[in-house]
Amino acid sequence: MSEDCIFCQILSEQASCYAVHETRYTKTFLDIFPVAPGHCLIVTKDHYQDIFEATPDAISMVGHVSTLIAHTVKDELQADGVGVYQLNGAAAGQTVFHYHMHVIPRNTGEEISIHSRLPGDPAELEAMAARLSARAYSMREDE
Ligand SMILES: [Zn+2]
Repeated sequence: MSEDCIFCQILSEQASCYAVHETRYTKTFLDIFPVAPGHCLIVTKDHYQDIFEATPDAISMVGHVSTLIAHTVKDELQADGVGVYQLNGAAAGQTVFHYHMHVIPRNTGEEISIHSRLPGDPAELEAMAARLSARAYSMREDE
């Protein structure tokens, strides 16, 4: 736990989030600055700054969940594709220094970006989180 880390604050419920999915080792919630509707972040429950600090096991758990979340957004939102991104260090575009992975639904013809400066609408984020969460928990482990 790092006190000034927003993801640690979310994990300890000192800050709210639009939750999608949770395992013993990971939590998935919506990016509040979505570059596309359904833009998810998968974070490790332990605080690691980046790939250079995180354990291979922690990274594996995020990777494991990323398959579930990718299927979830593709199926629920009928996305043409899904971008899965993981950034390490400011030079690589990392903006929150707690290990996380972006899962972003993509549609043909849309501009590709990883970060947005525009916050999502709270009501839309809440509805989206409910849809994706229901879909994620309805999927079988092997899907
Ligand atoms: Zn943290």
